[in-house]
Amino acid sequence: MVPVKAYAALDSQSPLVPFDINRRSLGPLDVEIEILYCGVCHTDIHYARNDLGLSPFPLVPGHEIVGKVSNLGGQVTKVSVGDAVGVGCLVDSCRTCASCNQGMEQYCEEGPVFTYGSYERDGSAITQGGYSAKIVVQERFVVLIPEQLPLEKSAPLLCAGITMYSPLKHWRIGKGHRVGIVGLGGLGHMGVKLANALGAEVTVLSTSPSKKQDAKDLGAHRFVLTTDEDQLNAINNQLDFILDTVSGAHDYNRYLQLLRANGMLILIGVSMDPMTLPPIHMIFTRKGVAGSLIGGISETQEMLEFCASHHITAEVEMIAIQNINEAYERILEGDVKYRFVIDMASL
Ligand code: NAP
Ligand code: ZN
Ligand code: ZN
Repeated sequence: MVPVKAYAALDSQSPLVPFDINRRSLGPLDVEIEILYCGVCHTDIHYARNDLGLSPFPLVPGHEIVGKVSNLGGQVTKVSVGDAVGVGCLVDSCRTCASCNQGMEQYCEEGPVFTYGSYERDGSAITQGGYSAKIVVQERFVVLIPEQLPLEKSAPLLCAGITMYSPLKHWRIGKGHRVGIVGLGGLGHMGVKLANALGAEVTVLSTSPSKKQDAKDLGAHRFVLTTDEDQLNAINNQLDFILDTVSGAHDYNRYLQLLRANGMLILIGVSMDPMTLPPIHMIFTRKGVAGSLIGGISETQEMLEFCASHHITAEVEMIAIQNINEAYERILEGDVKYRFVIDMASL
């Protein structure tokens, strides 16, 4: 066991506080990473506040991890000491089911092991995330950060980036498609950059008038203020795909009306509230509603190479770990452009 400094939520009501955790001793296929930067995802807040009713406490959030390899198990071949590497939302899966065999570890039939708040597969411990000085991860779940990418701006690619890249690739979204991105936050702003780089025509659907210029600067072709019914009406039946990244319950039916026949509404933002969708809204114009969860490990590596070749990174505001609670409040108020990243040297 290696003692490591971290920040944890001790329960769902209290602010995060300094907390010591133990990382496991290195197994033969384990990689020890000195964490340099960790992005702050809205899912961290959902978990720290137990919005989904799934959180074990104490909980160390953080699944947008980049750092340098600091030690290796004896059988590791994928990385060397000193390499710049990343860890996203996954640290293990069964590796043998149909999903794992197709590189979709996130949909592992036995349930993936998430970077925090999950039981390790042998039940020995609950995983703890990247708001910490070090992490130990099996090499299969470690990705290499291409050298063209600046590390602090790459941390958000490990969740926000792959979460948008995976559905864009799965539905082969690109040239000739009109795609709507609902919510211009951490995920949404990566979605705009990635969809634009894939050649799609991008419409940002936002509740924040102040984000109009940013949306254009990020690569959006159109900005629609969703609180203005006239602006929404102007794009009825116009979009081929909508990627909905809203971080809470809202009315999905209005977005279905923006889709053309055969259009697909892809749910990414997390809510536990039941949704009411009259089947007729889908039947009459053969529209679909789907969900999408992060992405697999090889797909994450592919996304990083794509970002390196298209010069894509996140827009980040660096913070010290001591400011994490204030950062959470600012995210909830929509006051982040567009991802907080913790400089772990502050720990
Ligand atoms: P974020 O940075 O807080 O962005 C969410 C955006 O949604 C906000 O900036 C805001 O954009 C919009 N929004 C917030 N509340 C809203 C409301 N009540 N009605 C309409 N719009 C609202 O969050 P994030 O880190 O991008 O994460 C977004 C969601 O995705 C979270 O629920 C997170 O847990 C989830 N997530 C899912 C996956 C997955 O694999 N499916 C992966 C990561 C995260 P505007 O100001 O532009 O309206
Ligand atoms: Zn995330
Ligand atoms: Zn599996």
